[in-house]
Amino acid sequence: MSKGIGGDTLLIATHNRGKLEEMEALLAPHGVHVVGAADRDLPEPEETGTTFVENARIKAHAAASATGLPALADDSGIEIDALDGAPGVYTADWAETGSGRDFVMAMKKTHARLVEIGATEPWSARFCCTLVLAWPDGSDAVFPGVMEGRVVWPMRGDQGHGYDPIFQPEGYDLTFAEMDRWKKNEISHRADAMRKFVSAIFG
Ligand code: IMP
Repeated sequence: MSKGIGGDTLLIATHNRGKLEEMEALLAPHGVHVVGAADRDLPEPEETGTTFVENARIKAHAAASATGLPALADDSGIEIDALDGAPGVYTADWAETGSGRDFVMAMKKTHARLVEIGATEPWSARFCCTLVLAWPDGSDAVFPGVMEGRVVWPMRGDQGHGYDPIFQPEGYDLTFAEMDRWKKNEISHRADAMRKFVSAIFG
């Protein structure tokens, strides 16, 4: 029995393979059995919130009440200062094509907007991640994480997912997509939030 979640199994309420793998890796040392939302055929709830925490709560509570398991959900995105924090909570939406998500298109759109408004470099930005752990009884706990950095162009690297090729974290010459996965998992916004989660729940 794990100390803080109220059982041995934690449902990770994401359909995003990249995120699931990152979170599984971060949870591996804590001996908790991890199940993904896709393994349980859970529908993806509509993300109708206007903040990361609202969307993470929607996903975590939907999964916890559908399965009776404690469920951990995240909502994340990139905030670009020159774009007044956009795409922010709408980061995934910028990649929507109508028949799936195209992140190369989204990164090109991001770069085009920065050029269009004549934003001066460096294009400071941050990846944000808010984790919500929801229990089947309706209670929850919130853990925010952040990684400061900048948007770079052209895209560099072929690891990772989403906007990784155009995000260079502060203190590094590599983009997230050029980094070893373990390195990114150590420093990312999701790792920051996960560390807070782990220390509160398993610490
Ligand atoms: P959501 O949290 O599922 O709403 O999606 C947030 C979007 O932000 C993802 O689809 C990615 O495009 C982007 N994103 C979040 N975290 C990362 C990351 O670590 N690397 C690259 N893109 C990310």
